[in-house]
Amino acid sequence: MSTESVLFAGQLLLPEGDNSVRLAEGVLRVESGVIVGVDEGPLPRAYNHGGPACLITPGFVDTHVHLPQFDMIGAHGATLLDWLQGVTFPSEAKWSDTDYATAMTHRVADQLIAHGTTAVCAYASVHAPATAAALMALEQRGIGGVVGQALSERFAPSELVGSADELLDQTATLLDRYPPSGRLAAAVTPRFAVSCGEALLAGAGRLAAEHGAVIQTHLSETRQECDLVRELFGCDYVEVYRRAGLLTERSLLGHGIYLEADDCVALRESGSVVAHCPTANSFLRSGAMRLADHLHRQLRVSLGSDIGGGYERSMVRVARAMIETAAAVGESFPTAKQAWSQITAGNASAAGLRDAGVLCEGAPADLLLIEPDVPWQTLPVDPLATLLWSWDDRWLQGVWLRGQRSYASA
Ligand SMILES: [Zn+2]
Repeated sequence: MSTESVLFAGQLLLPEGDNSVRLAEGVLRVESGVIVGVDEGPLPRAYNHGGPACLITPGFVDTHVHLPQFDMIGAHGATLLDWLQGVTFPSEAKWSDTDYATAMTHRVADQLIAHGTTAVCAYASVHAPATAAALMALEQRGIGGVVGQALSERFAPSELVGSADELLDQTATLLDRYPPSGRLAAAVTPRFAVSCGEALLAGAGRLAAEHGAVIQTHLSETRQECDLVRELFGCDYVEVYRRAGLLTERSLLGHGIYLEADDCVALRESGSVVAHCPTANSFLRSGAMRLADHLHRQLRVSLGSDIGGGYERSMVRVARAMIETAAAVGESFPTAKQAWSQITAGNASAAGLRDAGVLCEGAPADLLLIEPDVPWQTLPVDPLATLLWSWDDRWLQGVWLRGQRSYASA
């Protein structure tokens, strides 16, 4: 890799405090795939990429996505449990063929990168070889984050379940191969409480604690699911995970729509993150998460596409859905500035991805070059609001992963 400086010039989306962003004109200097300088001020005469009307942002982070589900987006009409049985499981069964999983993950990587997503918290399928293949494929493409084997021992066809001991052994091997310290790591990923008995959930909690791994699972997405969990375990959903040691600062719990006050206390005290997936919730008619209430209760919240329950690949569009959902159900809703912060630094921080989501010295050069075709800097609207609400995927001119150009618009 060349050690020559590459200069990216334009309006930079920079961190402001711990959980906000600001725009500043300036230049990023990149060497050997790493940002080595952030120089604010008028643009120099010569630079390699960008220009005064360009926006340069960190790559987007998606904190909840299912890799095997990209080909089944659009299965509209069913609700969660029927959708799983009727559409999702047949799609995931194809991952018993590891070559298929490898090829599909490369296609998914193409789609992620072309929409500006450079780090993911992703579910694979129940198959360990396919999960390893997905990790290898995303690593080859330079995408960061975590990928987990979707642990399931019941509530699915026989080809999509395993025994608890076997599944835990397989995930332990994946964690050894892709440890949590890496740019791309394995995660402990019990699919959801309905799929797992107490011993598997407790084993997953132990495994995550031993390795310091990210935990991914689903929580309280629909009322029908919550009722089923209560029937299976004799207690509330959050309590199932608390008993199993699955509520930690590294836990990403997809959805969290139906939470009572004591659920929120348990989540807050453990530092667990609710991964909000507004497009999936509307698509499957699961309900609407009350973001303002969750934030008022001091819950940590991240944002995810939840493809294929979700239908939007672009995290900008998912962020818009977050605002619209919050506005529909409550009095307060995130600003455009908060939305941009969420899909970059906010999601990276919630997922514990230290090297993602921020333009700063020492960070990997995971960069997006965006060239809007509207005069976004001179309109009588907050520029970040113009960029968010008039967003057009065709504005994305280039994507760099660790300083390597991985996407160029046609
Ligand atoms: Zn999901």
